[in-house]
Amino acid sequence: MAINLSDHKCQFCGKECTNIVYAAFTCDDPECIEKARLERGGPGGHQKRKAEGKPIIPDDLLEQDLKSKN
Ligand SMILES: [Zn+2]
Repeated sequence: MAINLSDHKCQFCGKECTNIVYAAFTCDDPECIEKARLERGGPGGHQKRKAEGKPIIPDDLLEQDLKSKN
């Protein structure tokens, strides 16, 4: 899989993306990595998704489900 990190920005502070952690684009800042961890599935992660109106099912599971139907 080819992802050009320089095409992306950190989702949390907007600096240049240098990492992909927990399915989020982040920079090297530990604070941003921690935010990615919390957003992805830290304590109460799925409750947060629910509160934002997002599906509780993780995106990668949804993708697998879609692929299996095609
Ligand atoms: Zn950042």
